[in-house]
Amino acid sequence: MGAFTVEVSIVGAGLVGSLLTCFMARRGHAVTLYERRPDPRRAGAERGRSINLAISERGIDALRRVGLDEVVLDAALPMPGRMMHAVDGELTFQPYSADRDRAINSIGRAGLNRTLLDAAAALPGVRLCFDHRLTSMDADSGRMVFQTPGDPGTVTATAPVIIGTDGAFSAVRAAMQGRPGFDYSQEFLDYGYKELVIPPAPDGGFAMDPGALHIWPRGHSMMIALPNPDRSFTCTLFWPKADFASLTTPERITELFAERYPDALALMPGLSDDYLRNPTGHLVTIRCAPWVVPGGAAITALAGDAAHAILPFYGQGANCGFEDCVELDRCLAETGDDFAAALPLYQERRKRNADTIAELAQANFVEMRDKVASRMFLAQKKVEHA
Ligand code: FAD
Repeated sequence: MGAFTVEVSIVGAGLVGSLLTCFMARRGHAVTLYERRPDPRRAGAERGRSINLAISERGIDALRRVGLDEVVLDAALPMPGRMMHAVDGELTFQPYSADRDRAINSIGRAGLNRTLLDAAAALPGVRLCFDHRLTSMDADSGRMVFQTPGDPGTVTATAPVIIGTDGAFSAVRAAMQGRPGFDYSQEFLDYGYKELVIPPAPDGGFAMDPGALHIWPRGHSMMIALPNPDRSFTCTLFWPKADFASLTTPERITELFAERYPDALALMPGLSDDYLRNPTGHLVTIRCAPWVVPGGAAITALAGDAAHAILPFYGQGANCGFEDCVELDRCLAETGDDFAAALPLYQERRKRNADTIAELAQANFVEMRDKVASRMFLAQKKVEHA
């Protein structure tokens, strides 16, 4: 295979687009990666947007294939199990595996994105275009129009291969949707999410055990917390939207936390400020097909959340997007880098996996908020009766 065999445009430099750029460039393709935001390696992270992620072996395997597993794991905190918090403060540790070395890893989203972008930028043939928002696209000709800052405010580009990794509300997918036969569904949960912080303890250490994913299951809602390397925890509330809407004053916020999460309240000095300032995010499952649309002069495909946005309750959205990159790389290897053959093969192999994880993520919400609590309750009962 010669250098820069095919010109590939990837739209969206989040986790999946940045990793996919690494895979494509390592195969010798010339990749232009477009991103609507400014370069996140210079600008700060967005407030309140999933600060950390649980990355499992599925995601680590993808990172290993581009030589980034060690650098990413060095900055990660392993979580070999979940720590359940009862209302009375009782803690129950439930290991994820009998083998304590098998853990999921708490990883900062912004740091991971920066690592992936640095790795992509260091590869030959890669061009990064920040502040480029795709506004329209013709899947037939491969013509893309981007909004950019300053004069004239738009940039036009074409490419024979376009891959949309521009997230759940993908502009690339929107351009494909206009085609006859394109199936699309989006299902919003009547729950939202909000991020809060448990800062380091006064002695500078972690305020809770950093070797666990913490869960406060409360039947119809829950809170989780993942540790960060700076010794803080990022907490995420998963509540019915109506609960968020009804809680608007510092007094009511403190009252409700005292009722539902008394042990956490004691560790959250900035609770009301964080709660009132941080946005409430939506939770959506998006399914679509096909993921690949051949046009006259171009072929367009989707990967990551653009192809399959899932609920976060299995902690598998990014992991699943990383697996897309591995599979696409494999399909290119098997087809001699013939994108017209490799992309449909990639879709065939990945689509049913993505549909399955979407279902599992929906089911795991009930498991996490409800059943782990009842199991914990039963375990406590057993201890009481022993
Ligand atoms: P995104 O991360 O959404 O990136 C898309 C990129 O495209 C962004 O940079 C965006 O700015 C850019 N973009 C968008 N539109 C345009 C446009 N028109 N033009 C140019 N660029 C554009 N997954 C896990 O594996 N583990 C977890 O623990 C986990 N926890 C989660 C917790 C929460 C609360 C949520 C909401 C999600 C969680 N996920 C988790 C899922 C994970 O965040 C997503 O699956 C992952 O971010 C998808 O990556 P992506 O690159 O496909 O999309």
